[in-house]
Amino acid sequence: MNVDGVVRRDARSGPFFDGAARDRLMIRRCAPCDRWYAPDAGGCPECGAEELDWAEASGRAVLVSWAVAHLRGGDPAPLALVELAEGPWMYGRLHGVTAPREGLPLRARFVHPDEGESHPVFEEDREDRGL
Ligand SMILES: [Zn+2]
Repeated sequence: MNVDGVVRRDARSGPFFDGAARDRLMIRRCAPCDRWYAPDAGGCPECGAEELDWAEASGRAVLVSWAVAHLRGGDPAPLALVELAEGPWMYGRLHGVTAPREGLPLRARFVHPDEGESHPVFEEDREDRGL
């Protein structure tokens, strides 16, 4: 976890960004326990495994909490804590969410900037409206 809470590429998070480059949300999974974990999880507290698999998540999530992070030289970027459909919580950026509220259905979309890593942002999942 870095200072603004969003996953950054390093030796451990490479598969997360390789997945994002292909529009896939990759998170960690402990196969023996059938449990999913956030992309920055370091191990499985259930069985003590130190190495978790990477597996593709659905990209569906709900908003847990959010804050506006004022980044150096940039526009205010809403930083969100989301609960993925698979269970784990992770940090990410919101995109185009004008009225954030707890429990708002979200779906991951992928940004492919000219410079820097592809990464997910979370948009309101309008297909879930009214459910
Ligand atoms: Zn486990």
